[in-house]
This record gives sequence, C-alpha cells and structure tokens, in this order.
Amino acid sequence: MNMYFERKLAIPMEVKEMYPLSVKLSDIVQKRMLEVCDIIAGRSDKLLLIIGPCSADNEDSVMEYLQRLRELQEKVKDKIYIVPRLYTNKPRTTGEGYKGMLHQPDPNNKPDMFKGIVAIRKMHMRALEETGFSCADEMLYPENAKYLDDLMCYSAVGARSVENQQHRLTASGLETAVGMKNPTGGDLSVMLNAVFAAQQKHTFIYRGWEAHSQGNPYTHCILRGYRSKHGNALPNYHYEDLLLLNELYQEWGLKNPAVLIDTNHDNSNKNPFEQVRIIRDVMASMAWDSNIKKLVKGFMVESYLEDGAQKIGEGIYGKSITDPCLGWEKSERLVLDMADSL
Ligand code: PEP
Ligand code: MN
Repeated sequence: MNMYFERKLAIPMEVKEMYPLSVKLSDIVQKRMLEVCDIIAGRSDKLLLIIGPCSADNEDSVMEYLQRLRELQEKVKDKIYIVPRLYTNKPRTTGEGYKGMLHQPDPNNKPDMFKGIVAIRKMHMRALEETGFSCADEMLYPENAKYLDDLMCYSAVGARSVENQQHRLTASGLETAVGMKNPTGGDLSVMLNAVFAAQQKHTFIYRGWEAHSQGNPYTHCILRGYRSKHGNALPNYHYEDLLLLNELYQEWGLKNPAVLIDTNHDNSNKNPFEQVRIIRDVMASMAWDSNIKKLVKGFMVESYLEDGAQKIGEGIYGKSITDPCLGWEKSERLVLDMADSL
C-alpha cells in the first residue's frame, strides 16, 4: 500500500472511557433524540431547525454561538425545536482545504487525528454540559460514528456521500434521525434510494465486526439544491419541487415521509442572506398546500456569529472558514419572525 501507518488510534469505546458521559447528560441526549424523531414522524408539530456554522472550527466561538442560541430557543420553544449544527467533519469538493476539527483541531496547524477525535468529543460534550444542547453533525466517515453516537441527536449524510453503500448501511443502524441530502447532481431517486436502504435491516462489516442493523424508520430527505451539467447552482425548494417530492414519497411507500430544506449550499448559491427569503418562500408553500405542510418538517440553516466567510488565518472570531453564514443578528431576527408567522 502506498500509505504510511503512523500509529494505532484509540477505538470509540476507549475514547468514551476517557471522556465518559454522565447519566444525567445521557438522559438529555435520549430525550432530545426522541423529540427529533417525534417531529420527523409527525407526532409533534414543532418545526425542526438545524442551525449553526458550516464548520464548528473553534470551540470558544462555537460555545458563544450556542449560548445565544439557547436563549433564543427559550423564546420560541413552543413552536420551533432547535438542534445546533456542530459540524466537525467537512467534505471537500476537490479533497483540498480544511477537513474539519476531526482532522485539524487547530485550523492553522497540520492534521492530528488523535487530537481531533478528542477535540470533537470534548466539544460535543461541552455543548451538552453548558447549554443542554445535544447537536447535529455530518456522518462523513461512517466508521467514526461511534466516537459521538452517545452525544448527538441528529445526523446528516452529505450530498457527496449519499450514494455510498457504507453510509446507507450505517444509517440503518443509528438511533438518531438521519437526513439524506440530495446528491450534488440533483437526482431525487439517489436520495430516495438512500432513505429506502437506511430504513431496512442489513448485515455488513462495521469496524471489523459482522454487524446487524435494525433499520432506521426516521431516515428522511434533505433538499440542498444541485448543480447543472454546466456547473451552475439550481434550487430545489420551490412549490413544484415539494409537490414532486411528496408524490415520489407516496409512490415509493417509504416510512415517515419528511423533508428538511437546506437553505444554503446550492439552494442559495452560497449567498447566506438568501436563506431568509428561501424560508419565507417554503413557509408560503406550506401555508398554501396541506400536503406540503405535512411533508416539510423544518430547515437547515448555516449561521454563525458573523456574516459571510473568511480565509483561514484571517482570524476573525465567529466568522466561517468554510461556507458563508448568516450572522447572529440576522439569524436571531429570522428565527423570531419564523415563530411569529407560525
Ligand atoms: C454542509 O452541510 O455544510 C455540506 C457540506 O453540505 P452538502 O453535503 O449538502 O454539500
Ligand atoms: Mn456548508
């Protein structure tokens, strides 16, 4: 193999022993996980809002963001259920650039995988301890899911991973609700096949074990926009897109029909300020058509302390180093307005 194996890393069980979760915190995670599943299954009619930075690149600014989000959650708790995005692994279109806290606990330093594993567990744990939020992360590397599975209440499979078998099979064995994004090319059947696959039981190899999964009925869709063959961004949150997805759900007979709208990425063409308009547009579609209202369970929003994005090394506190985000004041206004309109 043309690979140099530097050191054997601690397995999830060992890392969990080093940084164990108390029973009290574990109960919070369990409760939040069930609340999210209740929303996806339509047993709760709250709107699910997965919101936070594109990448959780700095523990301190992320914690400050979460503190503000906690206060905001209290104000809208009857209508909106907030799950922070604590995204510690970043898929890269060309493989280059910052791959997230897992690889680079310090974005200005070279990768250190052991420090990374510890850093992401500690950050998810600190979020829970200090704000009571268990969070969402992307399952970019399925074999790493168990480093955080006792801390999270939502998991997403990204646009570049959704056609991958190991992601689908692993999702079928998670307890949290899993959102399957549409692929970058926009083919809805790829996303629906992923939902179907993850809702079934499977036998497969996982971390060197022969494993049997139970099937995950809370696997659902996320629409994030897509790219044409010419490489331009095209949205898929409009009225007709939602009607189409609803029809497909009926045809496919999947469990718990549900979709979240990712308002950034190719839906906004990475203009984070468009997210406000996109949410209004989708909420208008929900108000107009009862099937759409039933199908759309919430939104995924990229938001941070500061508007926009910066290059790594610019060092602006609370400003994204990956996709441009909606800053705090606008995000707070957005969430309060959403609650008012419900
Ligand atoms: C993200 O959520 O930041 C992300 C990388 O999304 P996608 O997989 O849709 O590109
Ligand atoms: Mn992003």
